[in-house]
Amino acid sequence: MTVSEPLVRVEELTVDYPRGRRLPPLRALDRVSVTISQGETLGLVGESGSGKSTLGDAILGFAPAVAGAVYYRGEEILHARPKRRRELTRQIQVIFQNPYGSLNPAKTIGETLAEPLRFHRLAGAAAAREKVAEWLELVGMAPEAMKLYPSEFSGGQRQRIAIARALILEPELVVCDEVVSALDLSVQAQILNLLTSLKERLGVTYLFITHDMAVVEYMSDRIAVLHRGGVVEQGEASRIAANPADPYTQALIAAAPVPDPAVQRQRRRPTRPEPTTRN
Ligand code: ADP
Ligand code: MG
Repeated sequence: MTVSEPLVRVEELTVDYPRGRRLPPLRALDRVSVTISQGETLGLVGESGSGKSTLGDAILGFAPAVAGAVYYRGEEILHARPKRRRELTRQIQVIFQNPYGSLNPAKTIGETLAEPLRFHRLAGAAAAREKVAEWLELVGMAPEAMKLYPSEFSGGQRQRIAIARALILEPELVVCDEVVSALDLSVQAQILNLLTSLKERLGVTYLFITHDMAVVEYMSDRIAVLHRGGVVEQGEASRIAANPADPYTQALIAAAPVPDPAVQRQRRRPTRPEPTTRN
């Protein structure tokens, strides 16, 4: 890998979902190009259905790509063989909106957190238990959580556990897909700050996917704005927030909730918010 090679380079990626014999496929991404440098947080923002999760899925190897490429440290991985893909799960992890997806309700937190360590043969039972306890602490949970089941925790606690599960292998890249969208505002802030402090500690790279303009501004170094399967704008987060070039980005910012109602009215005035920003 040359010095200038980013950690991830998505090039002209096109993804089509089949819709049966009578309908043409649904084009979820149309020649999308983005790069993610090592150690940065790339925010990916856009309304529901704009293709954000599809882009995350493509990097994780789950999207039906029909054209383009995804390079990871310069290696094309869109068509990685199953064995290589399994190896890559050590480096590329994911956290979803609903941690129930990654937390098996029938397994204790201890079993669930030890799983990736066991799968990659990185620890025996005792070492795994120790590492799990350490990670529970890192995400602000007591080690006793190990013996409990996902249903015994709140949404915010479950998200902390899902974060521990994603980070326990110390991956290089974590795809965070709407990770706070199901949480109360006060809990959202705690989870975002946890992700930020873990990033500082581990030097991990995030692809941070959200429909929420305020959240993406808060978390990202750079932002890419997706609209109907295409990137309409990408650049420094501060520049995009202060001076969005694309009308769609301007509308997203105008529609983003701000705490002060007067500011919010002011913000809403210039453009009628076209996009709906629910997921
Ligand atoms: P976002 O995450 O921005 O809400 P998605 O990437 O989930 O958007 O979806 C982009 C488009 O692809 C949407 O029109 C959605 O309905 C469609 N889509 C997503 N996943 C599938 C799938 N598994 N099968 C068929 N269509 C899908
Ligand atoms: Mg999504």
